[in-house]
Amino acid sequence: MPTFYDTHAHLDYPDFANELPLIVERAQAAGISRIISIGTDFASSERAIQISEQFPNVFAAVGWHPTNAMEAPDDVRPRLRELANHPKVVAIGETGLDYYRLPSQQSGGTPEDDARYKRKQAQVFQQQLEVAAEVGLNCVIHQRSSFDDTLAQMKPFVGRVRGVFHCFVDDPERMRQVLAAGSIVSFTGIITFKNAQSIRDTAAAVPAGHFMLETDAPYLAPVPYRGKRCEPGYVKEIAELVAQVKGCSLEELSTATCGTARNFFRKLS
Ligand SMILES: [Zn+2]
Repeated sequence: MPTFYDTHAHLDYPDFANELPLIVERAQAAGISRIISIGTDFASSERAIQISEQFPNVFAAVGWHPTNAMEAPDDVRPRLRELANHPKVVAIGETGLDYYRLPSQQSGGTPEDDARYKRKQAQVFQQQLEVAAEVGLNCVIHQRSSFDDTLAQMKPFVGRVRGVFHCFVDDPERMRQVLAAGSIVSFTGIITFKNAQSIRDTAAAVPAGHFMLETDAPYLAPVPYRGKRCEPGYVKEIAELVAQVKGCSLEELSTATCGTARNFFRKLS
């Protein structure tokens, strides 16, 4: 059976609470042989590390998500350096920029609030890029409605830090911009949705070596589980769709995506 990795899941979320051993076992039974649990703040990153210590095939990424930026300390670097030292921490993130729901779009929010929110996101992102460069890890990038600013902020790090633009839902042109900057993309279950033809066009166009697969569990379950809680085992359904779109075998897709992941996540073994 061809094996795949879930390069982005949130195993520390309460959705999985007492079921983790079962979830990891089901993933293995479906051929998902590695899972990377992604931190969204320090507490979540610490839980991801704990889970990676419990399960040999689970690894962790440590970071601070942009939508939580206002709660971040002024300097995330000292604690992040400590966390990144753990042998099973394979990346920094998720980090990046998210302009999707700005304070001014909610009641009572002002343009000044927007500016403050964006400034803090950029600051926390910058610090994480710096730590990534320092410790020699790559970054798991979250961007929403902020594509140009995200690429621009990463530019000074090109050659030192690569990013995976996770949950990639943009067109082939933007995919090429990501690749030109030395970064890569990864696809979630959204690619199986009926209305996602442009993402399938992107998947068809992206060369091997430059993309990975993920669930973003507990979110974004692929068809036929759409709307239900997502879990890492569902990478299987995502892989089947991507293989079909690219006109390659599952074995070829396995070799390409797992090889890309081992190359990108330096400490993944
Ligand atoms: Zn995520």
